[in-house]
Amino acid sequence: MELTIEHLSKRYSNGVQALDDVSLIIPTGMFGLLGPNGAGKSTLMRILATLLESDSGTATLGQVDVLKQKDEVRKRLGYLPQEFGVYPKVSAYEMLSHIALLKGITVGRKELVHALLQRVNLYDHRRKSLSSFSGGMKQRFGIAQALIGDPQLIIVDEPTAGLDPGERNRFYNLLSEIGENVIVILSTHIVEDVKELCPNMAVIDKGKLLYSGSPENALSALNGKIWSRFIQKSEVENFTNNYRVISTRMVSGRPLIHVFSESDPGNGFSAADVDLEDVFFSKIAGLN
Ligand code: ADP
Repeated sequence: MELTIEHLSKRYSNGVQALDDVSLIIPTGMFGLLGPNGAGKSTLMRILATLLESDSGTATLGQVDVLKQKDEVRKRLGYLPQEFGVYPKVSAYEMLSHIALLKGITVGRKELVHALLQRVNLYDHRRKSLSSFSGGMKQRFGIAQALIGDPQLIIVDEPTAGLDPGERNRFYNLLSEIGENVIVILSTHIVEDVKELCPNMAVIDKGKLLYSGSPENALSALNGKIWSRFIQKSEVENFTNNYRVISTRMVSGRPLIHVFSESDPGNGFSAADVDLEDVFFSKIAGLN
């Protein structure tokens, strides 16, 4: 099964063109939708989750018209929104059971809820109030509710923002266990999320699709074109003016710059091992 998006556009009433003619095919497995803040990721996720109307375009999940057959989509959808809202003072068990009921599950609900709590490693915390959960526990609870009803399409919007490294790792492990026969769209501005989890990805910025394909293909397209060197802090502006700088990051307190160049720029630069950050920043800068 595939999710096929064609010519999707959305402009908010304040004039912001949040999506601009986006066409994208999303296969089963983990798919990373990578873009900086404000790129249009949540807008796209909310349209696919039937929570927002697009202005034009189509989206098809298998045989289902995502934009028109909203009830059919909702039956097949698991959604973990960016803001899960308030976490009430009810237990994890009660809340999951309630959501399962809303999703129409009446028979075997208790067993299902117990199995889900075990799967996301919250079974021992099932009687605790959601409001007492840590960020990582809340995100794992979010996945548990998204898995109710065996969805074919799972959308997780910025799931690792705000998690500490340990929580992030546990969350990665959980996501990677969801299975290969469902479509999981992971919307994120964190390159590491995609690097760790996704065999396919897209990069969007300012509502436009800038890349779609495998991380490997994007990496090999940049091979031999990324150069790096350490510079002085006072030299940052000078280098920015004279090279196509794609990133400047501090490494042990010193600026390490990566520049894009078809040939060896000399001047102390050496060939860099291309990583997904280079892909991300060079796509956003329109360099490749
Ligand atoms: P992302 O999820 O990649 O951070 P969003 O889809 O949230 O991006 O936002 C895309 C653009 O649309 C941004 O410029 C944002 O400010 C704008 N935007 C988002 N929601 C609304 C809204 N409800 N009304 C007006 N503008 C919005």
